[in-house]
Amino acid sequence: MPRVRFAPSPTGYLHIGSARTFIFNWLYARHNHGTMILRIDDTDVERNTQASLDSIFDGLNWLGLGWDEFYRQSERGDLHRKMAEAIFAKGMAYRDFTPLSADTEEKTHSEGPWLFHAEMRAMTREESDRRAAAGEPFVLRFRVPRETREAVTFTDLVYGEQSKGTADIEDFALLRSNGIPTYHMASCADDADLKITHIIRGQDHLTNTFKHVLIFEALGVTPPAFAHLPLLIAPDGSKLSKRKHGPVVSVTTYRDGGFLPHTYVNFLCLLGWSPKNDREVMSQKELIELFTLEGVNRSNATVNFSEDDPFDPKAVWLNAEHLRMMPVEELSKELVPFAKAAGFAAGNDFDAKMLAITPLIRERIRTLKEVAQVADFFFAEELAPYDSAELIPQKGDAAMALSALSKAREVLATAEFNHDGLDAALRTGAADLQVKAGQMFQPIRVAVCGRKNAPPLFETLAVLGRETCLHRIGRAIQQLERDAKPAEKSS
Ligand code: GLU
Repeated sequence: MPRVRFAPSPTGYLHIGSARTFIFNWLYARHNHGTMILRIDDTDVERNTQASLDSIFDGLNWLGLGWDEFYRQSERGDLHRKMAEAIFAKGMAYRDFTPLSADTEEKTHSEGPWLFHAEMRAMTREESDRRAAAGEPFVLRFRVPRETREAVTFTDLVYGEQSKGTADIEDFALLRSNGIPTYHMASCADDADLKITHIIRGQDHLTNTFKHVLIFEALGVTPPAFAHLPLLIAPDGSKLSKRKHGPVVSVTTYRDGGFLPHTYVNFLCLLGWSPKNDREVMSQKELIELFTLEGVNRSNATVNFSEDDPFDPKAVWLNAEHLRMMPVEELSKELVPFAKAAGFAAGNDFDAKMLAITPLIRERIRTLKEVAQVADFFFAEELAPYDSAELIPQKGDAAMALSALSKAREVLATAEFNHDGLDAALRTGAADLQVKAGQMFQPIRVAVCGRKNAPPLFETLAVLGRETCLHRIGRAIQQLERDAKPAEKSS
C-alpha cells in the first residue's frame, strides 16, 4: 500500500503550490487505497512561526480533505541524529571542523562549485574523534562517493530519467554545527522511518533528490519513488511569489473570495494534471478515480490573474459549475456566512430564508460572495433608491407602469402566495389591463427587487411575502406619481 506525505515547513503561509502538492499526494493515496501523512517540517526553529503553522492548518482544514497520520519533525530529532550517526559510523560521513567564516571564504574564492574541504575529508578517524571529544564544533558532512561512482541516477515518475555527476554534488551537511539535522537529513530519516513509498513534491526539489538518493542508500533503504510536480507560474512566466504577486498566491484568498473548497481542489488539479478524457469539472469521487501520476505533465502551469482580479477565470467558471451541482441545502449553508458578512439581517429566520432564496439565485452567482449583489433585496428593510424609468415597461409609458402596479397591488392583496397562485393572478391582471404579461411583470419586478435583472418573478414574490411586496409596490406607485407631477406642471 502506498504511503505518501505532505511535508510543509512552517516558515510562510500556505501557498497555492503547496496546496496543490497536498492535493496530489492526497489523491494518489486515495486512488491507491494508501496512507496520507501530514508531516510538519519544523526543524528550522529560527524561521518557524506560529502564524505560518496556523495558516497551514487554516488552509488544509478549509480544503477539508484530511490526512491519516500526523508527525512533527521537531519531535523526532533523536531519530534524525541516530540515523546521521549510523551513516557516520559506516564511514559515509565525516566531521568538518572548518570554522563557519573560513567556510564562506573558501566558497567565494574557489573556482567552480565548492565540493569539500580536502583536509577535513581526509582526516583520520582518530584525529576527528580527538577534536570532537575536545569540544570543537563541527558540521557532519556526507562523503559523496566521487571515487567509486560517477553519477547518481533515479527515474522520476513525471520527469523521467535523472542523472547528476557526483563531481557536481558537494559534500552536503547532515548535521549543523549546533547538532541540528539539516532538511536533507531530517527529511530522509523520516521518509525512511515512516516507510514513505512515493515522494510527490514540487519540481524545485528535483535537484535535492540526488542527495536524498545518496542518504537513503547510506541508510540501507531502497529510495522511495519520486514524482516531481511542474512549477506554478504567473501569466508573465515568472515563478509565483507572495512578494511579487501578493494575495493570489495564498489559499485563503480564494476561500475569502467565496470559492467552494472543492472548486479550489478541482482547479488546482488542473494546474499540471489532466485526466485522459480531458474532463474539467469533476467531483471529488471522480478526481480520486481519475487521478494518476501519468497524467501529471512536465510543463509549468500558469495561474491566470490580473492586477484588478486575483481570481483565475477557470476557477470562477468551475465554481459556478460546482455551485449549480450542489444540493440546495448544502449551498445554502455555504452562503449564510457570506450573506451575514454582507450585512444582511433576517433575525432568527436567517437559515430558513437563505434556504428559500438559494434556488432562486444559484444560477446567478459564480462565487458565494456574489450573494451580496444578487440577494440584497431579499433582506433589505427598504430598497435602495432606483430610477423610476426602470419601472416603465417595454413599449409602454409611466401611465402603463402605474396601472400595472395598481393592478398588481389589487390582485396581490388576495392572491395565493405561491408560484402557481401568483402566476395565475398576475396573468389575469395583465389580461384585464389588456397589456402583455411582460409589460405587467417588469414594473412589479423593479418595484420589489429595485432592478430589472433579478431572479424569477413568482418565486421571488413568494419568498418576499405579501406584506413586503405590497409595501414595495406601494412605494413604487408613490415614486411614479411624485415623478410625474413636475412634468404635469410644466406642460
Ligand atoms: N519541508 C520541505 C518544503 O516545505 C519539504 C520538501 C519535501 O517534500 O521533501 O519544501
